[in-house]
Amino acid sequence: MAKLKFKVQSSRIQGRGAFATQKIRKGVRVIEYKGELITQTEADQRYENTDDRTSPILLFQVDKRFVIDAGVNGNEARFINHSCDPNCETVSDKRKIFVEAIRTIYPGEELAYDYNLTRDELDSAQVDKDYVCRCGAANCRGTMLEPLPKKRRLKKRTVKKGT
Ligand SMILES: [Zn+2]
Repeated sequence: MAKLKFKVQSSRIQGRGAFATQKIRKGVRVIEYKGELITQTEADQRYENTDDRTSPILLFQVDKRFVIDAGVNGNEARFINHSCDPNCETVSDKRKIFVEAIRTIYPGEELAYDYNLTRDELDSAQVDKDYVCRCGAANCRGTMLEPLPKKRRLKKRTVKKGT
């Protein structure tokens, strides 16, 4: 297994975060987001009784049908926080998710990508409070959710955040 390019330590954004321990060049795959590949339906069943919305449900939406549950066999990728002005992005490749640098990242910088959590059409105003963003970026939109809905049908929100 390749050596980690970051270490996990407490973060100003939220809980623990991932901090670069070496220079990471733009385009480099930092880590694969690992976990169990399950269908959205299975994920819904698995977490339907979770009423604590702040509990870490580590689901990453892969496509319309599948999610990766980092709660099962997940790796350090689950500690990467959200930012509205991120230095990484996620790319999917044959139902695998990789976190890639979108600019050069220097040692000590916190890694982050835009979670862009999907909104559920049944969401109340409370949802923006539940997923409030404290990334501190100048262009922070105040939420880890995708920008406000443009009248389209969305599947259940997929939650992914560090603990
Ligand atoms: Zn933000």
